[in-house]
Amino acid sequence: MISTGAVSDFFESVFEKYGIVFHFVDMQNAKGIFDYITDRTKLIWVETPTNPMMNIIDIGAVAQIAKQHRILFAVDNTFATPYLQRPLELGADIVMHSATKYLGGHSDVVAGALVVRDKDLAEKLRFVQNATGAICGPMDSFLVLRGIKTLHVRMQRHCENGRAVALFLADHPKVEKVFWPGFEDFPNHEIAKRQMKDFGGMVSFLPKGGSSVQAIGILEKLEIFTLAESLGGVESLVGHPASMTHASIPVAERNKIGVVDSLIRLSVGIEDKEDLIADLHRALG
Ligand SMILES: *Cc1c(COP(=O)(O)O)cnc(C)c1O
Repeated sequence: MISTGAVSDFFESVFEKYGIVFHFVDMQNAKGIFDYITDRTKLIWVETPTNPMMNIIDIGAVAQIAKQHRILFAVDNTFATPYLQRPLELGADIVMHSATKYLGGHSDVVAGALVVRDKDLAEKLRFVQNATGAICGPMDSFLVLRGIKTLHVRMQRHCENGRAVALFLADHPKVEKVFWPGFEDFPNHEIAKRQMKDFGGMVSFLPKGGSSVQAIGILEKLEIFTLAESLGGVESLVGHPASMTHASIPVAERNKIGVVDSLIRLSVGIEDKEDLIADLHRALG
């Protein structure tokens, strides 16, 4: 299952031109992957929790399937960060981070990272990186390194605030549904509990009523949550996936994965949680 529209766009409009075939698979039941594995399968790519539905995928179970078939296994760990989830220890070969998000943590850098255990794989990836020029500038590298020094402290607060916001929304009469893996009845909650230290600061929800207009009305009333596509910074952000991050995905496809027109995604920051809840209370009221 794939994150942003940008990632699926990139796979489809760039790599498919070179004859690489992609299957977008719901992996909430890891066994679902079996149907798609052929002798040409090279890589299984997992994102967990997913953007923006917070689907949880069992990293250890997928690792077993990948090993059994000798397929490389990569995990996009952007939402969880290494503080909450350590895919290499669960059997992944490659961990990917958008360092733009929590690693940088201050919404002032665009960068990415791949982390591997195997020396040969590291060499291969380094060669590709060098040959294609995907090299971070010194200032960008500095900002990510500085961000990482406070990652653990920021993540603790993101989790605390994320929990408070999720619980507040779940109790609100104008909210239809909240997507946050910390709820005991959330699909694969037990897996999330096992493979993550805590549930993170990303929360999505559906306001009652279910239209795009209504969702945008709420976004416009928010004052502390800033409207933006990014996530993972110290300041709280709000996004409308259907018109922003996932706008390039066809409507039918979007609806199928749950990214309906009224969905709102919050990146809960590290402000005082009382202020965040007051802001949501006002916007929903
Ligand atoms: C933002 C994001 C990406 C893309 O990263 P950029 O740094 O914006 O290029 C990939 N995966 C996830 C889960 C993301 O949130």
